[in-house]
Amino acid sequence: MDIHHLITKLREKGHKITPQRLAICELVLSSKDHPTADQIYKKLKQKFPTISLATVYQTLHLLKDLGLLLELGFPDCSARFDPNISPHIHIICLKCGKIEDYETENLKEQWAKIVKDIGVEPIIQRLDLYIYCDKCKKNQ
Ligand code: ZN
Ligand code: MN
Repeated sequence: MDIHHLITKLREKGHKITPQRLAICELVLSSKDHPTADQIYKKLKQKFPTISLATVYQTLHLLKDLGLLLELGFPDCSARFDPNISPHIHIICLKCGKIEDYETENLKEQWAKIVKDIGVEPIIQRLDLYIYCDKCKKNQ
């Protein structure tokens, strides 16, 4: 979704568009590395010294509620954010936490078929694969 469409959507829902909020949206919606809220906060802190972690969380949860962002929660209570909301596999390193996407049309078709066969309407869809990445394997 482009940023103008997003602004329209936020305004429709009665949300104020502040430069901070806009910067958070732009950063997370263009990110490919599944950042944490804290990483987003630290990246924007230089440009917006008054930004708070609470504002970052609020904005991320707003995007999530609008269906534009996935929040990936983990058993250690950490959370990562992903603007790619179509079904794809996450290849997650158990050691360093790096998350890579694996995405194919074939997977999407198969997954849609499985969901249809089960006969449910998914609210959240997640496919996680846990590994030790090459870098972590080398350092072991
Ligand atoms: Zn790793
Ligand atoms: Mn992803």
